[in-house]
Amino acid sequence: MSPSIHHIAIVVRDLDAALSLYRDGLGLEMSDRRVVPEEGVEIAFLSAGEGEIELLRPLDAESGVARFLEKRGEGLHHICLAVEDVAEEMARLKEAGAQLLSEEPRVNPEGVRYAFVHPKSAHGVLLELYQVKGGRSPQAE
Ligand code: ZN
Repeated sequence: MSPSIHHIAIVVRDLDAALSLYRDGLGLEMSDRRVVPEEGVEIAFLSAGEGEIELLRPLDAESGVARFLEKRGEGLHHICLAVEDVAEEMARLKEAGAQLLSEEPRVNPEGVRYAFVHPKSAHGVLLELYQVKGGRSPQAE
């Protein structure tokens, strides 16, 4: 399986205002909306064909997303690729000299492994790798 786009994440100041465009205006269906306390953000996921759009809003000024918003304003935050094996991709990228944000894969509360590649190594875009068996998004299963 080759990597596919899992989601594209956009930082917003006001989640409801963003939803009024992406959900109400464009008709994208919201599949999830929740607070992620460990990241200091509130997120909403919208289905867009095979992939999804993630809207994220910082909840506290200390979060990385809050610093991003303050420095660069609203906009593209990261692109996430679904991969079969995060650890394997990390090893391959490290071997090729890429800078990763963690040594080991991170694990979210649902038990899914993920990792980030530094924008310096991904030509200016923060890249997330998300482990999905068979390359399908959870919603597609
Ligand atoms: Zn993401």
